[in-house]
Amino acid sequence: MKRRPFDIPFNVSFLTGNESWYVADSLASGLLTGDGPFTRRASELLRPLVGGGSCLLTASCTHALEMTALLLNLQPGDEVIMPSLTFVSTANAFVLRGAVPVFVDCRDDTLNIDERLIEEAVTDRTKAIIVVHYGGVACEMDQILDIGARHDIPVIEDNAHGLGGSYQGQRLGSFGVMATQSFHGTKNIQCGEGGALVVNDSRYVERAEIIREKGTNRAKYFRGEVDKYRWVDVGSSYLPSDINAAILTAQLEAFDDIQSRRQRVWKAYDEGVHDWAEKHGLSTSMQVPDREHTAHLFFVLMPSNADQRALLSHLADHGILGTFHYVPLHSSPFGAGAGRPGPSGCATSHSVSERLVRLPLYAGMSERDSARVVEAVCSYVPQS
Ligand SMILES: *Cc1c(COP(=O)(O)O)cnc(C)c1O
Repeated sequence: MKRRPFDIPFNVSFLTGNESWYVADSLASGLLTGDGPFTRRASELLRPLVGGGSCLLTASCTHALEMTALLLNLQPGDEVIMPSLTFVSTANAFVLRGAVPVFVDCRDDTLNIDERLIEEAVTDRTKAIIVVHYGGVACEMDQILDIGARHDIPVIEDNAHGLGGSYQGQRLGSFGVMATQSFHGTKNIQCGEGGALVVNDSRYVERAEIIREKGTNRAKYFRGEVDKYRWVDVGSSYLPSDINAAILTAQLEAFDDIQSRRQRVWKAYDEGVHDWAEKHGLSTSMQVPDREHTAHLFFVLMPSNADQRALLSHLADHGILGTFHYVPLHSSPFGAGAGRPGPSGCATSHSVSERLVRLPLYAGMSERDSARVVEAVCSYVPQS
């Protein structure tokens, strides 16, 4: 098989130029441990982007999700409703506490959790509903919050794709009792590995600080509220080094620029493939009138698995790396044993994952390159 390098990779981490200065500042200051000056700056920059909740930086979104499981006191046998079409961490964080993920199918348009199938999955053991705003397009939050309220079940947003997005004018990350953010290198705003827990229900704030600091009240001690810090609860070391927060600070300061660059690429795809997709009856990433998306990804849904593979290799022949996305958790080797699908099963998630192709999308992508991707996509003729 001939292999050619990809002229257009799938993702390139975008750097603003200030990251190395801030890292140098951090090293020079000697304040490298967690909760230093850059952690405070990054948290302040993050807060308005998620609608004003308390922001606690973590080493990853995975860690932030683990914190939500501890904060909700999940016990073995408790159930957590979540989409099947998501990253493993959405489930793993709860499985670590012995909880059982109940996987709900996705809608066939936004690919978000299908809100019409959530209520039938509720049992008297359901302790949380986790939503993921796929690609940064908001879930049907009105309906989902209503289900949560009627059954007294907290809603948590895994907002790894949704930083800066909105639903009916309100920022994503501000709807759930808690939300989690990712600053992994593949996300819109990144510091290599990083994340945050956003706490919107103030009842969880104090305990979140404790769990993040190895189960101690060190945060209170640093604020001068107690004379020494002690072991007061369970916990772990969930806070990032201030060096990571230095990189994150530079990224968050450039949030508007990074987002407008991504939106330009997204728009070029949306307009560029429109006629081709329509001609072949294919759906793509979409805009929904009452929500702002984050241009986290752009997908095309092919008619069949054969077409998914054929389009990926067609793109590769043009030097372009496209990719598939999540393998649904309900049918993954571990997820099939650790959790179970809701009453309606997860047929759409399965079908989507076999047919979805994501196009390369990064802030530093040139207009020429996005045009090349459009041209390559539109020269493909679906076989089925
Ligand atoms: C990336 C991602 C995560 C994990 O983020 P990390 O920061 O790598 O732990 C969790 N959930 C979703 C939906 C993601 O896309």
